[in-house]
Order: sequence, then structure tokens, then C-alpha cells
Amino acid sequence: MVMRIDVITVLPKIFDSVMNYGIISRGIKNGKILVNIYDLHDFAKDKHRTVDDRPYGGGPGMVLKPEPIVRAINKIKKENKNKKPWIIYVSPQGKLLTQQKVYELYKKKWLVIICGRYEGIDERVLKFVNEEISIGDYILTGGEIPAMVLIDSVCRYVKGVVKQQGSLKDESFIKKFLDYPQYTRPYKFYNMRVPDVLLSGDHKKIALFRLKESIRNTYKKRPEIIEKIKLTKTEKMLLEEVIKEEKVNEN
Ligand code: SAM
Repeated sequence: MVMRIDVITVLPKIFDSVMNYGIISRGIKNGKILVNIYDLHDFAKDKHRTVDDRPYGGGPGMVLKPEPIVRAINKIKKENKNKKPWIIYVSPQGKLLTQQKVYELYKKKWLVIICGRYEGIDERVLKFVNEEISIGDYILTGGEIPAMVLIDSVCRYVKGVVKQQGSLKDESFIKKFLDYPQYTRPYKFYNMRVPDVLLSGDHKKIALFRLKESIRNTYKKRPEIIEKIKLTKTEKMLLEEVIKEEKVNEN
């Protein structure tokens, strides 16, 4: 089934990079992903194609008007009357985007993303929105970069887009721990060697090494993740080894 994403924006050209370069663009060219970019100005009714106005009550900046946005949503909805799109407003006030949320959104198969600008959108548009999504606790100038983050992360789940689907299962935030460290050629670089076990051809030993290094990465970089999860006997043992080794390294 094709993953469809419709984006409503005042800056459609920004999306040229997603549409024309990289893995996602390949998925679009192969017909596995359909991305439609709508210029909000096309949904304005006046000759100046006005999409924003001053905020009621005063204050700085401009606000995106509700009518063009809702007109755009209605046009998109009419394109397939048998299905309902999941309508997202990317907003710093939304639910934080996590890998689990990315997967949930992929399962929806049809997303509409509204990109805000300036001071945001008229509050009444939220009545037409299913979910507000934030990409982090910081403020960007517009919703276009968050929309690209959504498109990229969601479309990686579309079959055939990421060539080795197995790699999706091994990534940080999908497994219990952060991903293990990766190495490629050359074997020796600035006097640092690739760990020998990775050249041993012993798959069991490699798997154990990778598990331990995943635990080490998580312990060192995101210790709060370890505090939240239930460890197996082997994982507990490996964690104890990691803690001891790291203490030795500190001294
Ligand atoms: N005044 C708004 C507020 O404090 O909630 C912020 C407006 S922001 C300058 C303009 C637009 O950028 C927002 O409407 C939203 O679409 C987008 N945006 C900014 N930061 C974002 C974030 N962290 N996640 C998702 N969208 C964001």
C-alpha cells in the first residue's frame, strides 16, 4: 500500500530537497510513497493571495489565517472519499515525536501535515486536526523542517525504501538499548583498530559483543533508558562488566 503524505505550507520550494534527493526521493520515484506539496497561497481568495493577518488582541508577528488552511484540508480530503487522512499540525506544543509515534503514524498510511509559520496558526484550525506533533522542546521559524523530519522518519518504514529492512529492527529506540558502534574499512585508523571479534567470523561472539557495546553506549550516553527497562540475566551481567570497565577507564 502506498504511503501518502500531503503537506500544506507557505514555502513549497523547501520540499524540493526531500522530493529530489536521497532515499525518500527514490521511494517517491518508485511509486511507493506519494508526497503532495500544497502552496497555502493557492487557497487564498483575494488577489494578493493573503494567508496571514495580525493577531487579535495585539502582540508581535502574524498568524496564519484559518480559511485557506481549512480549504486546503477539504480539497485534500475530497481526493479520496473512501479513506480518511490523519491530520497533523506540527507544533512545539504537540506530543513529542518518538520512534514509537513514527511507527504509529506510518500505520495510518495517509497523513496531512500542516506547517505553521510566524506566530503559528489560528487556534480554530485545531478543530480540524487529529494530532499536534512536536519534534523537540525548542522553537523553529516554521513547520517545514518538522514536516521533513516526519516524512523522512515515517517513510523509512515503507517496504523497499530502506534496502535492508533488517537494519530498522537493529536501530536505537527500536531495541531496548541504543545501537552498537559500527566500524568499516580501514582496519587501522589514527592508531585505532577495529575490535578483533568483528573479524572473527564467530556470529555468537559478535552478537554478544554488540549487545555489550549497545549496553555500554546506553549506559554512557542515555543512562535513564537503562533505569526504565527490565534487564535479562545476561544483560545484567554485561551491564555489571561495563560499569566495572568504565570505572577503571575513569581512573
Ligand atoms: N508561537 C508558537 C508557540 O510558541 O507555540 C511558535 C510558532 S513557531 C515560531 C512557527 C511554526 O513553526 C509553528 O506554528 C510550528 O508549525 C513550527 N514549529 C516550531 N517549532 C516546532 C517544533 N519544535 N516542532 C514542530 N513544529 C514546530
